[in-house]
Amino acid sequence: MVKCPFCGYDSSEEGFKLLRKPWKFRFYTVKRIECPKCHGVFNYYYGVSPRSNKVSVFVIRVRPRKR
Ligand SMILES: [Zn+2]
Repeated sequence: MVKCPFCGYDSSEEGFKLLRKPWKFRFYTVKRIECPKCHGVFNYYYGVSPRSNKVSVFVIRVRPRKR
């Protein structure tokens, strides 16, 4: 599940709009995603830490909702 950091909308990844091809950042795969509800844009990081072998997920806000 992915949750929008702006409006709290959550859905599976398919429920969001992918704005560009995913890319790699360290051990993360990064997806730039637009929320279909509020049109805020954020980066979704997903990766497995090579040290702890645990899944790590976080989001970074890129652009808040536009009017
Ligand atoms: Zn939203």
